[in-house]
Amino acid sequence: MDAIEKPIDQILPVVPIRDGIVFPGTEMILTFGRQRSVSAIEAAQSSGKKVVLVMQKNSNINDPTPSDLYQVGTVGEITQMMKNEGEINALVRGLAKVELSSYEAVEPFFVARVLEVGDVVEDNDEVRALFNHLTSELRRAVKLGKTMDFLTFMNIMSGVTPLVLSYQVASVLDIKPSERQELLELASVKERLEKEVGHLSRELKILELEKKIATKTQEKFDKNMREQVLRERMKTIEKELGEDDENKEVKELADKIKKAGMPEEVRLKAEKELSRLSQMSQYNPESSYVRTYLDWLVELPWAVASPNNVNITDAERVLNEDHYGLKKIKERILEYLAVMKLRAHAQEEDEKAAAVVVQAPGKPEDGKAPGKPPHKAKSAPTILCFVGPPGVGKTSIGRSIARSLGRKFVKMSLGGIRDEAEIRGHRRTYVGALPGRIIQGIKQAGTKNPIFMLDEIDKVGTDFRGDPSSALLEALDPEQNYAFSDHYMDVPFDLSDVFFITTCNILDTIPPALRDRLEVIHFAGYTEEEKFHIGADFLMEKQREIHGIPKNAVNLTNHAMFDIIRRYTREAGVRGLEREIAKLYRKIAKKIADAPASTHHFMIGPKDLHTYLGSYKFTSYFAEKKDEVGMSTGVAWTEAGGDILFIEVALMPGRGSLLLTGQLGDVMKESGQAAMSYVRSRWKVLGLPEKFYQKVDVHVHVPEGAVPKDGPSAGAAIATALVSALTKIPVKRVMAMTGEITLRGRVLEIGGVKEKVIAAHRAGIKTLILPKNNKKDLEDIPKSVLNDLAFHFVEHMDEVLRLALTKLKRSESQIVPVASHLHLTA
Ligand code: ADP
Repeated sequence: MDAIEKPIDQILPVVPIRDGIVFPGTEMILTFGRQRSVSAIEAAQSSGKKVVLVMQKNSNINDPTPSDLYQVGTVGEITQMMKNEGEINALVRGLAKVELSSYEAVEPFFVARVLEVGDVVEDNDEVRALFNHLTSELRRAVKLGKTMDFLTFMNIMSGVTPLVLSYQVASVLDIKPSERQELLELASVKERLEKEVGHLSRELKILELEKKIATKTQEKFDKNMREQVLRERMKTIEKELGEDDENKEVKELADKIKKAGMPEEVRLKAEKELSRLSQMSQYNPESSYVRTYLDWLVELPWAVASPNNVNITDAERVLNEDHYGLKKIKERILEYLAVMKLRAHAQEEDEKAAAVVVQAPGKPEDGKAPGKPPHKAKSAPTILCFVGPPGVGKTSIGRSIARSLGRKFVKMSLGGIRDEAEIRGHRRTYVGALPGRIIQGIKQAGTKNPIFMLDEIDKVGTDFRGDPSSALLEALDPEQNYAFSDHYMDVPFDLSDVFFITTCNILDTIPPALRDRLEVIHFAGYTEEEKFHIGADFLMEKQREIHGIPKNAVNLTNHAMFDIIRRYTREAGVRGLEREIAKLYRKIAKKIADAPASTHHFMIGPKDLHTYLGSYKFTSYFAEKKDEVGMSTGVAWTEAGGDILFIEVALMPGRGSLLLTGQLGDVMKESGQAAMSYVRSRWKVLGLPEKFYQKVDVHVHVPEGAVPKDGPSAGAAIATALVSALTKIPVKRVMAMTGEITLRGRVLEIGGVKEKVIAAHRAGIKTLILPKNNKKDLEDIPKSVLNDLAFHFVEHMDEVLRLALTKLKRSESQIVPVASHLHLTA
């Protein structure tokens, strides 16, 4: 304590302590296991070794938020530290009492500004009397068997100041965590000493009673009975002192169990656990596990549900209110809701009918598994799955569906899950076990029929810890999920009323068994015009409210909005756009805050964007590009939506090897080889020397950010670049192509046309070559995009070359090579 001269006013890492306080002037060894705590300790260790320790209001909370912590804690110094298997053991010395005035960060650990709060140290006879009394009572307690650290005891007895004594005694008293916190928070040393005298005399009473009871129970004492006797002893003590806290808790839990509306089986289990808890002493560490488990049981919404009223007209209104465009998607969703409603209705009818049929005596129940409610299988046909790049409104449509049905909404991300236990929970025998994400989500929702969005199901992995996707299927499958069993809960929970919506970026990585059950709705990216409307009509308003800017204070011109879309973002969705708009409002908020008195009106045109958003992030792909030999433009479809890609071919003297680079997947490499074979088989028509390939090495490269690329649809573009390189005829600059090719040069249908066309449009392509069989896919594409682009539909590579190469002439049956005089100089 004395080490501190100036009052502390600092920003320091904060570590929540489940139970326990390091008082100023005392030392304690603490074990930190939670990730957040470990990070905080490590941060403190590398910068001044100071850390703020604050107690949780409820020790059961695993992942506390600032509101779960007390406001007064201790600044401690880490004097020694040892790391062991992810845990940290540290010897911490309390320096000063502090108040947490504000949290500066919560991730990756808490950081707060703390102010030292001093103590009022009275110096009068009363304090001296309390001081003497306390030390002598402490000595008596130790004689009666109070356990305490010998060094601390010696330290206290060897004479300390009243302030130090008050803290040291506070740390050795046998009291509840909340009482200990109260002692810390008291401002007056006198009051603290008084309180401690009270606590200590109660402890002495217990010690004396224990001694008495020990003598009484001596005769019955038997080695096997030891534990029970101790428990009895504890109970007698608690009764004598009128300490009925625990009973109160048991009563409360019993009450909650009654009210939770649990199914019979679950209620019996809960009651069994409760009776186990009531037998345990509250000092038994296992009791806190049982209590946590019971809390989970009583807090799950066994019987809480939002009213189930599906009104299609209302739903349509809400979907339209919240979202621009997405016409087809909204239609699909409304159809789905209509089917859901009809099924629910049919189910009710069935139930009514079943209720009047009397079972023939002795006849077994129609062969169904026992306990299975037969009607439940009907509640939903399949599971909705929203597929599309980020930022296209998948989550927000999900929220809207919840709003339109008057149900709760929860979202859980499944990205990176490899362990089945993340879905289904750990068994309770595990230290620190918790339910899986499904049950956590249900608790968070607080109803048994929420809209439950499972994000990123394409990012679920599999390894030796079991297969999360099969656990997931069990949770999602309406045929099985009426009795979903979480390992931690150990009792079935009925998920059949939950409306699950899954989302992902691509379908390819979803295991087939799961994919079979999904009703897929594709979200393609937005066109520039759609983005404009979303930006102007939805995002501007949303961000304005978030930033607290008055209505009409900002006027963004249409031209400026288009410039934000074109020059500050390049994406399929509107996340980047929303971020830029938020940035704009942030800047404006600052301006308003800086000069609050004047009236504000901001007119923002294209020229002002630099001031608010910085310099342009993107320029046109094509502005500075020329028609080039050996370089063609393809269109690809990746997780982030569609994008264009450039294909470069270089020839070098060699002996006919083909090298493909640029993070290409196997399928794309194969289509490069197919393109090469096609060119070799067409040597004559293309005007190439017969064995041209024997003298050159061909290098095909697809640049652009080392993003993994795969799929067969680049075949046509690779072949075009190849032919261009070999014949030295440039490829037209603003023409892009997509299509799989066969060895004979036929161009085959490809997927993701909508995304690809929108991406080509975004990139400023003027002409797009597509396989003939994809013509039908243009129906889905907005007029505004179609009008800007010219399309050619082809069946054969020869047609592609005729269109894309600058110098080839058209002819009826075949390509007439203008470059027939060309010979390779390799
Ligand atoms: P996703 O879940 O597909 O990644 P989000 O639902 O998070 O995308 O959408 C990103 C943001 O864009 C949200 O603020 C959302 O409200 C907004 N948004 C997306 N599509 C639309 C739309 N059609 N109309 C209005 N706002 C939209």
